[in-house]
Amino acid sequence: MHQLTLAEIARGLADKKFSSEELTKVLLARITQLDPQLNSFISLTEELALEQAKAADVRRANGESGALLGAPIAHKDLFCTQGIRTSCGSRMLDNFKAPYDATVVSKLAAAGTVTLGKTNMDEFAMGSANESSWYGAVKNPWNLEHVPGGSSGGSAAAVAARLLPAATATDTGGSIRQPAAFTNLTGLKPTYGRVSRWGMIAYASSLDQGGPLARTAEDCAILLQGMAGFDPNDSTSIDEPVPDYTAGLNGSLQGLRIGVPKEYFGAGLDPRIAELIQNSIKELQKLGAVIKEISLPNMQHAIPAYYVIAPAEASSNLSRFDGVRFGHRCEDPKNLEDLYKRSRGEGFGAEVQRRIMVGAYALSAGYYDAYYLKAQKIRRLVKNDFMSAFNEVDIILGPTTPNPAWKLGAKNSDPVAAYLEDVYTITANLAGLPGLSMPAGFVDGLPVGVQLLAPYFQEGRLLNVAHQYQLNTDWHTRTPTGF
Ligand code: GLN
Repeated sequence: MHQLTLAEIARGLADKKFSSEELTKVLLARITQLDPQLNSFISLTEELALEQAKAADVRRANGESGALLGAPIAHKDLFCTQGIRTSCGSRMLDNFKAPYDATVVSKLAAAGTVTLGKTNMDEFAMGSANESSWYGAVKNPWNLEHVPGGSSGGSAAAVAARLLPAATATDTGGSIRQPAAFTNLTGLKPTYGRVSRWGMIAYASSLDQGGPLARTAEDCAILLQGMAGFDPNDSTSIDEPVPDYTAGLNGSLQGLRIGVPKEYFGAGLDPRIAELIQNSIKELQKLGAVIKEISLPNMQHAIPAYYVIAPAEASSNLSRFDGVRFGHRCEDPKNLEDLYKRSRGEGFGAEVQRRIMVGAYALSAGYYDAYYLKAQKIRRLVKNDFMSAFNEVDIILGPTTPNPAWKLGAKNSDPVAAYLEDVYTITANLAGLPGLSMPAGFVDGLPVGVQLLAPYFQEGRLLNVAHQYQLNTDWHTRTPTGF
C-alpha cells in the first residue's frame, strides 16, 4: 500500500479497496520502522492522523469525494500547525507550539488530508543539504551516506522512501526542486503569490513560496490544487483564479517551444548530468516539442545577488526571535543585553548566525547602496532576461543542479561551495517564476533532476509537460533499495 501515489490512493478510497484509517496505520507503522535510518521527521502526529483519517472515511461514506479526501501527507516543519510543535528545524523554536494553522495547512485539512507529522528541514530553511537542522541531518534514501538536499530534505527523503505519498515543502532558492532532484521526486515551486505564505515561518519573504513534493507530476497537480489560491491574510498573495491542474495534464506537446539556455552548460556542470539532460530533451522532441537555444546573460550574477538579498531579509525576519516573546530563552539573564545575546546565541545554529550577520552588514548604513541596492538591480536584470526569453519560448529547460547529492559533511567547512550548487534554481525565485524538477536518470546510483521553468502562473504548463514526459519514461517509478 505504501507504493501508492496520491492519484491511486484517491481511486482506491473511492472504490472502497481500503479505508483512509487502514492506509494511515500502515504508513505510521512504516515511518516508525524505517525513519530511524533517515531522520526525516521532527514530530509524528499519530493521534491527529487517526482522527483525520476516521473523519475522512465518514465524509466518504456520506457521499463526499475529492482527490485529497483521506490522503496521508506531512508538512515541512515551518508551516504552523495549531497546538503542534512548529520548530523550523531550530533549537530557537523547539518549544514552540503554533497557536494557529498556516493557510496551507488549513486548506489541505479542509480538503480532507491526513497529517502524519512534521518533516525535518534545514534550520529556518537555510541550506541545501539538510545538515543545519537542530534535530540532526537527514539521510538520502538512495544512499544513506549522502545528503537528501535541502532545505526540504525531510519531506523529500520521506516521500522518496515511500513513507508517504507526498508532502508540503517551501522553496526560497531551490528548496523544493533541489531535494526533488537529489531523491528522484517531482517538486514544484509555484509562482510567487500563488500559494499563501500566511503561517509559513519566514526566511526571505520576497522569495519564499510553498509547494508540493511528490513522486509524479500528477500528484503535484493534486496537492497544488489543495494549496493554491488567494488569501487575504497574505498581502503578497495574488487574486488569480486557480485552474484545474489535473484536467490540464493531458495537453499535447506538439509545437511546444522549449528554450535551452546556453549558459546552463558551462564549466561546473557534471558532464554526466549534461548528457541526461540532453536525453530528456530528445524525449520531449519525440513528443513534438521544438528546441531553441536561448541566452540568460545575467545568470552569472544571480548567486551573489541572492546571497545578499536572502540574508538581508532573513536578518530582519529573524529579529523577532529575541528570547522575550516566544521561543528559546537563556537561563538567568543578567540584563537585557545578556538576554538577547545568549538567547539568540544558544537558539540559532552556525549557518543561521552567519546569514544574520551577512544580512545585517549588507543593510547597514554605508553598505546598503554597495550591496543591497546593487543586488536588487541584478534581480531586475535576471527577471528581464527571463521576460525576453519567454517572448520566444514556452518553457525553459535545464539541469536542476550541477552535481548529484554530495556526501554528508562534504561541504560543511565551505559554505560558499554549497551556495554555488544553487546556480540553476535561485534565478526562478529572484524573478518569482514557477519551476519544476522531475527525475531524469541516475549518476553513480544517485538521482538527477531536469528543471522546467515557465512564465508567471503557468504551473499548469509545467505539470502538463512533466506528466507527458512521465507517461513516456520510467525514471520517476524507480524505488531506492531497502525502502
Ligand atoms: N540553498 C538556498 C539557501 O540556503 C535555498 C534554500 C531554500 O530554498 N529555502 O538559501
